[in-house]
Amino acid sequence: MPQGANTGLVGTSIPDETGTQVVISFDRMKEVFNVDIENRSLRVSAGFHLSEVNERLSEQGLHFPIDFGSDPQIGGMIATNTGGGRFLRYGDVRRHVLGLDIVTAIGELAPLGGPVRKANIGTDWKQLAIGSGADFGIITQAVLNLEPIARQQSAALVVPPNNAAIFPLLQALKQMAGPMLSAFEFMSQNAMNAAFDHVPTLHNPFADGTVPQIALLIELTHPNQPVPWEIDLDEVLQQILMTMWENGDVAIKDALFGRPDDMWALRHALSEDVRTAGKLYAFDLGFRRPDVLAFRRAIQDELPDFAPRITICDFGHVGDSGLHFNLAGSYETHSDEFEQGLGDWVV
Ligand SMILES: Cc1cc2nc3c(=O)[nH]c(=O)nc-3n(C[C@H](O)[C@H](O)[C@H](O)COP(=O)(O)OP(=O)(O)OC[C@H]3O[C@@H](n4cnc5c(N)ncnc54)[C@H](O)[C@@H]3O)c2cc1C
Repeated sequence: MPQGANTGLVGTSIPDETGTQVVISFDRMKEVFNVDIENRSLRVSAGFHLSEVNERLSEQGLHFPIDFGSDPQIGGMIATNTGGGRFLRYGDVRRHVLGLDIVTAIGELAPLGGPVRKANIGTDWKQLAIGSGADFGIITQAVLNLEPIARQQSAALVVPPNNAAIFPLLQALKQMAGPMLSAFEFMSQNAMNAAFDHVPTLHNPFADGTVPQIALLIELTHPNQPVPWEIDLDEVLQQILMTMWENGDVAIKDALFGRPDDMWALRHALSEDVRTAGKLYAFDLGFRRPDVLAFRRAIQDELPDFAPRITICDFGHVGDSGLHFNLAGSYETHSDEFEQGLGDWVV
């Protein structure tokens, strides 16, 4: 089985215990790295890590705009159609793959698509290979769309009073900030506590260190196209939130401003650090937008009856209705509850 950087959270690049599977590593598949500045595209070997790609591209002011807390390989990202924290702005990997080379199970090289953007000569076969693991073959190279690096970035941690205030806030931000809105991330108190407990160096920005029930990481980035005037994005974000708050259009309990990198450090720490909250049932869920918070509410209401000592440690890309929904309990004292009660329930 192909194995990229092995950052997948569902174990599909890890061989089973039969001893009959072979791992194909892409660590040394790094011969091709051809940037086409005019076409704003990159032909790249599957074994490059995302961080390597973006480091090499930074000199050109370009990047592959899928961003999240791990460092996968390009082949693995395409095989899993990765989303990420800026899905709201850039979409998923599928949206940025112009072409693919795959090697099929019978050893044939199949070039699917290429650097031409307006290519409507027939079926777009590469889409079959994106997000379907290695079902149609092994990905060896890709032609990727690149985006200019955002010139300005501003972020805030916004505390809504309750779940119901989240989507009105998102709608209002979309109206006021338009395409500058690049992230709208949800973090629950339990998930943030796990991160603060596990990483003592992580800055807790909340007043008196009191972590709220819910916090939203909201980010604006400057439009990609160069503009003839300069804008101060921190001012824009503060003004938008202040206007909403004063008008009473949406409910905001608190808003903290600071270095975007610090806020993203907290958000990115959650994926790894919820593992320290105990034994974990981890789900990566996607919803129709109105259903994501209704689902959360329903589980919050029902869970105590099934598994009173299990906590919900969730977080995610709620702006796109994606939720990393984690249920955590202690290994020692709660394993029966997990295996018998909750285990049957979630199955
Ligand atoms: C901290 C953290 C945060 C994350 N956040 C997100 C997130 O926000 N959004 C998201 O979508 N994912 C997220 N992930 C999941 C993960 O990073 C992605 O699934 C990743 O893109 C997988 O790439 P990889 O190179 O690690 O592949 P692997 O994990 O090695 O493999 C994943 C799958 O792809 C197949 N594969 C790998 N390389 C190839 C190839 N060259 N050809 C064909 N098949 C191949 C493997 O067989 C396997 O089925 C996160 C993971 C971590 C650890």
